[in-house]
Amino acid sequence: MSEPKRRALDQPIRSTRAEVDVAALEENFNAVRAWSRPAEVLAVIKANAYGHGAVAVARVLEKAGARFLGVALVEEGVELRNAGVAAPILVMGGAYEGGYAQIVDGDLTPVVFRQEHLAALAAAARQAGKQVNVHLKVDTGMGRLGIPPDALDSFLDGLAQAPELVLDGVASHLANADAADPASTREQVRAFAEVLRRVDATGLQVRWRHLSNSAAVLDHAEARESLRLNLVRPGLVLYGLPPVPRLAGEISLRPVLSWKTQVSHLKTVPVGTPVSYGSTWHAPRRSTVATLPVGYADGYSRALSNKASVLVRGRRAPVVGRVCMDMTMVDVTEVAGVTLGDEVVLLGEQGTERIGAEELAALQDTIPYEVLCGVSARVPRVAVGR
Ligand SMILES: *Cc1c(COP(=O)(O)O)cnc(C)c1O
Repeated sequence: MSEPKRRALDQPIRSTRAEVDVAALEENFNAVRAWSRPAEVLAVIKANAYGHGAVAVARVLEKAGARFLGVALVEEGVELRNAGVAAPILVMGGAYEGGYAQIVDGDLTPVVFRQEHLAALAAAARQAGKQVNVHLKVDTGMGRLGIPPDALDSFLDGLAQAPELVLDGVASHLANADAADPASTREQVRAFAEVLRRVDATGLQVRWRHLSNSAAVLDHAEARESLRLNLVRPGLVLYGLPPVPRLAGEISLRPVLSWKTQVSHLKTVPVGTPVSYGSTWHAPRRSTVATLPVGYADGYSRALSNKASVLVRGRRAPVVGRVCMDMTMVDVTEVAGVTLGDEVVLLGEQGTERIGAEELAALQDTIPYEVLCGVSARVPRVAVGR
């Protein structure tokens, strides 16, 4: 008996995909870079580049001139190194646990704010016979990671006792840069100014000073100047979205990710026909209902049931009934000429219509960040736009 024949799964079969527009990514990066000069750009590409595909995005942004890349996890940094990315990589998450040897081997630059970080990194560096660049993280009001400003002197002493560690940067993170009221950001800027002044007073030559996420890049240029920040840390704006609607229009941005699928089943049903689990929607008239091969396992949230729209033939079609794990139904009664295989846009543009991550975020009671990160690993990422 011969072996059963197996085909390789080298091409996606299902039509559902996330298109990553490389030209838009480059344009957004260039716009952010021009806006932030003379500061350099650390491109934040944690969480698989906000769902866009970390390795592909890293390659584009490294070539476009990103001075640093930023990730949350050691694993994310190692993935980039294994793919041949050479730019400096800042690991911002602080949870290094068993990862110190990987940090050293991968020439990753961790943020540090605990004595254990210093001791474990110094030991790993000694073992490898290397020096390791580190960025000191200070908590000026985010309440998440970092040394409190009053621990600065003792932490710098700790660093001074570890010749394997090179202090390459000082950083903090803003909690309210997207808020209309600047009071809290000003307070953090003041605290960070004091930290930088004290670091400068030690005579240490620290190369990088950074604080600004996307919202601060757009809305707090004054902090960049007053603190002489020479690195900014944008994430979301690189992917073409303002962190809050208030900041849209500061610089021109183009959404990078489009999420598409195709009509995989189509039927016309009589009035009263129930659709999907729980029968939460009944056809209010004779209706044409399309089934789409995408569901909450792909990140199309169940919270969008009976709320979101998709684009078909340039028109909006409402999601009807509950979003299932692998499928979603839409009412295309009002869209003329829909046929099997028609392209459907879940996120992005079609004709003159557009569905933004902001729109889906509002419907599912979250922020655009979560919509983008939520596009699951089951959805193939496809580069377009060049
Ligand atoms: C995620 C993150 C950023 C980027 O934030 P955006 O709002 O996407 O610009 C910057 N710095 C740190 C420490 C982060 O964790």
